[in-house]
Amino acid sequence: MQAFRLVAPHTANLVTVDRPKPGAGEVLLKVGAAGACHSDLHVLDAPDALGMPMPFTLGHETAGWIEAVGEGVTGFDAGEAVAVYGIVGCGRCVACLAGRDNECRNTAPGGIGLGRDGGMAEFVVVPARQLVPIGDLDVTQAAPLTDAALTPYHAIQLTKRNLRPGSTCVVIGVGGLGHMAVQILGATTATRIIAVDTREDALKLATEVGAHHTVRSDAGAAGAIRKLVGPAPGGADVVLDCVGAQATVDIARAVVTTGGDIAIVGLAGGALPVGFGTLPMEARVVVPFWGTKAELRDVIALGQTGAIKAHVQTFALADAKRAYDDLREGRVQGRAVVVPG
Ligand code: NAD
Ligand code: ZN
Ligand code: ZN
Repeated sequence: MQAFRLVAPHTANLVTVDRPKPGAGEVLLKVGAAGACHSDLHVLDAPDALGMPMPFTLGHETAGWIEAVGEGVTGFDAGEAVAVYGIVGCGRCVACLAGRDNECRNTAPGGIGLGRDGGMAEFVVVPARQLVPIGDLDVTQAAPLTDAALTPYHAIQLTKRNLRPGSTCVVIGVGGLGHMAVQILGATTATRIIAVDTREDALKLATEVGAHHTVRSDAGAAGAIRKLVGPAPGGADVVLDCVGAQATVDIARAVVTTGGDIAIVGLAGGALPVGFGTLPMEARVVVPFWGTKAELRDVIALGQTGAIKAHVQTFALADAKRAYDDLREGRVQGRAVVVPG
């Protein structure tokens, strides 16, 4: 079968590999769709693939159909449509036991498509416990829900104490994650949403999916947001930074209210000084990782009711490289999704 694999630092290629076989407790999935996340670019662009063992097949946002099950797997029907929960926790630590595999104390950050074979292939083998049924939800919709929606959904749960009616939430970066963040806020809160991006087309998409205000991300961005949220010690109740660059965490710090929350979701390497005098009093900063399986179920339910809908650009598996090139160059609106079939 064909698979789009990270074979060496800075090098991902479409290659021919054997179709994998499901072992005990595993399932062979016929891939329906696999999203291209900006995190893959961070891995691709790092000199050491961020420490992930290579080679492996990319694609950590996967949905498809059950093709075959390994020994001991019950409860799935051949052809059933499922989404893949990407984090493979140890299942034994205090966090995994509480259902928070994303905080696993024994596993380095990674997952299916991040250090082990993912969904940018015709087939993928995953442990059966990673699967969440999606019913008749389209697989190209379900795939981005597993990360582009799950990650901001989780960040919103972590900052919910401040997302009351009448609050304001700033979403920085309206790409794959950000355009889902805006919709999840719209579907699950009554907060006012200010979307921030460097790209005009991303801001246009933000408005289409429910942002109340848009701000161009440049040297004047913090000032423009301050005009909307008022002066310190007030400000934005929550900032979801879906970029995480120095320029964007600086915007977050400049606009967050006393008692506010900043979630640094993006991995672009920006850092905030934390301490008295560097942040407003009682402000909290969190660096969330992906989400929990229960939250994935919630997000799929939001997708099934139509409350959230990924804006998707599809690519054939043969064009996976082009999908990542387009993502790197800022040519993707919403999420690029690879469809192997
Ligand atoms: P994306 O490329 O689809 O979207 C990024 C958006 O940010 C684009 O619209 C881009 O124009 C915009 N942007 C870039 N620089 C900006 C700036 N200075 N100010 C404002 N906007 C700017 O990327 P994505 O797939 O949505 O991922 C976003 C980030 O989140 C990446 O760093 C990714 O690695 C990270 N991520 C983190 C987690 C996690 O668990 N914490 C999970 C998934 C992705
Ligand atoms: Zn991702
Ligand atoms: Zn664990």
